[in-house]
Amino acid sequence: MGCYFDYNATTPLRQSAKSAIIEGIDRYWQNPSSPYVSSARAKNVLETSRETLASLLGTQPESVVFTGGATEANNSIIEYLSRLSSQNQVLLLSPFEHPSVLDAARHFWGDRLRFIRSKANGTIDLEDFSVQMKSSSIAAVSVMAVNNETGVIQPVNEIAEACAGSGVLFHCDASQWFGKLSSSRVPRCDFLVGCGHKFWGPKGAGFISLSDRSDGFCSQFGGGQERGRRGGTENILLVLGMVEALAFAEKRLSDFASQATYRDRFEAGLTDHIPATEIVGNTGTRLANTSFLLLPDYENIRWVRKLDLKGFQVSTGSACSTGKTSSSPVLTALGFASEAGRKSVRVSSWADTSERDWGNLTQAFNEVWTDFQNADGSGMTEVVSI
Ligand code: PLP
Repeated sequence: MGCYFDYNATTPLRQSAKSAIIEGIDRYWQNPSSPYVSSARAKNVLETSRETLASLLGTQPESVVFTGGATEANNSIIEYLSRLSSQNQVLLLSPFEHPSVLDAARHFWGDRLRFIRSKANGTIDLEDFSVQMKSSSIAAVSVMAVNNETGVIQPVNEIAEACAGSGVLFHCDASQWFGKLSSSRVPRCDFLVGCGHKFWGPKGAGFISLSDRSDGFCSQFGGGQERGRRGGTENILLVLGMVEALAFAEKRLSDFASQATYRDRFEAGLTDHIPATEIVGNTGTRLANTSFLLLPDYENIRWVRKLDLKGFQVSTGSACSTGKTSSSPVLTALGFASEAGRKSVRVSSWADTSERDWGNLTQAFNEVWTDFQNADGSGMTEVVSI
């Protein structure tokens, strides 16, 4: 009766992706840069995957750079942008970026950061964005496509348009978009980032799609692979698995969208039984699979453990912040007190999650709540890392 409800953290490897990787292990293990026919075959299969991905993204194969995941991609872009900028220029970004953007921005840009205000619905405030864009000191903009905790979709098309119009480079971490929303509708920006393990591909695989304006991008030096943009022998196996997984996920988008009905019923059932439960970002446009809850009592880590014992895997927020006492960037940006970080539970499903699975999850939450009350738990306790 249990079920995995943490798909925004990661997904298992899809069978067809696994088969592509296993085939690659046997057939395409050669170094694609070596000068013999078997290596040319390996190179060829890598380039075919690049073409497939580019056509899903509606771009040219030359614009695609394969990386070792989204953290690497985000770090290298933020670092590259800081290299391009002058000392009096700043990076304009949303306050609820993933830590792989936020922490990299603090590291590489120091205090040369400007944050866009956010609205109560979990999006950035476009009016504030427009005002800040009037400053001539903006070197680049970084706004994620979809927030990993709330699932709220950001107004990235408007941002892309404004950046293109004013000649400012735009970096968009779209890790939570791919596999959930159509790749062909992803915003046109200068640095677009995707992450294999969010759509049933392998971990440690990701990509950047560049525009003409960001063509000079270069992260790792040495070897000249990926057209000199990321030196290092290409990981053909993971690329094969990742692209196969994305092509498959694209076929399930309408099933994914229908999760919203079950998710909404789950939220209604929960707020009926556990009054004062808040749902963060539910007035914004959200992914169909995500529910970011603020539970009125008892520490989130205790909820997560109790639910786990019942067979349901949920998280306290993004996997990267689980176990940390600090509040999530989203909750802070939306003006919640730091205490809220100890109340948040994120639930995220996939296209195959059934109505029954959601119903069982509702029941499990309600049972845990009743158990806590009967045991009269002491409410908030110390956070213990998991
Ligand atoms: N960006 C976002 C929005 C994410 O949700 C994640 C996943 O946790 C990442 C970046 C990091 O991706 P990776 O695990 O490939 O480094």
